[in-house]
Amino acid sequence: MRCKLVIANWKMNADTAAVTKLLAGYEEAINSTAKVVACPPAPYIFQARQQLDGTAIAVGAQNASQFESGAYTGEVSLSMLKDLGCQYVILGHSERRSLFGEQDSDVAEKFVATLSAGLIPVLCVGETREQRQANETDTVVSGQLDAVINVAGIDAFADAIIAYEPIWAIGTGDTATPEQAQQVHKLVRNKLAASNSDIAQRVPVLYGGSVNAGNAEELFSMPDIDGGLVGGASLDAVAFAAICAAAN
Ligand code: PEP
Repeated sequence: MRCKLVIANWKMNADTAAVTKLLAGYEEAINSTAKVVACPPAPYIFQARQQLDGTAIAVGAQNASQFESGAYTGEVSLSMLKDLGCQYVILGHSERRSLFGEQDSDVAEKFVATLSAGLIPVLCVGETREQRQANETDTVVSGQLDAVINVAGIDAFADAIIAYEPIWAIGTGDTATPEQAQQVHKLVRNKLAASNSDIAQRVPVLYGGSVNAGNAEELFSMPDIDGGLVGGASLDAVAFAAICAAAN
């Protein structure tokens, strides 16, 4: 059976004190059988890993370099993230794609490098509002998946997670309906199944985009939604704990 998973993407929020407080809140409030992963900003990964030692909450990163080491000013390598105790890496988040120019080819390279480093990639895919309105959702999401499958190979998805994040739903409060999300999750699974049905059944596909304590249960009850990638609501421990509980 596929595992249920909820991943907190704190984006560029928090400071030392806020990390301590938020994680203490997580430890107190979260009581979930789903796997829970906190992705703080890179400078706080070590602190988070130390604080979460002995708990079931894992730590992830929001991005990583595809390069191993060397003259890449400002970048953070996968071996550094592993050294800090990271287990998961979010890749191809729409904010990375739209604000920092990440291309499908960069995301594919990062995906391969993440697996080579022994970490778990969380591959984000999703369409803009204009693309949805033009009935291009399937083409866009399939293309984003193909870009990675063509480079990494389908077998690489045995150790990966996919997050469907419609861009129009991220940080807008305009959540996809469970039916809209399920339709694309099914498409993602069918896409993988065309190459390997076993892997397609095993890969967790998370939904992201304005998930909150009020809508998580309905979303996570859909057959192809295996949990969530949560931005804004993950900065509130009580709300995030409720979302984690909805993934049980
Ligand atoms: C995200 O950043 O991945 C996200 C889904 O954000 P939000 O939950 O705030 O929409």
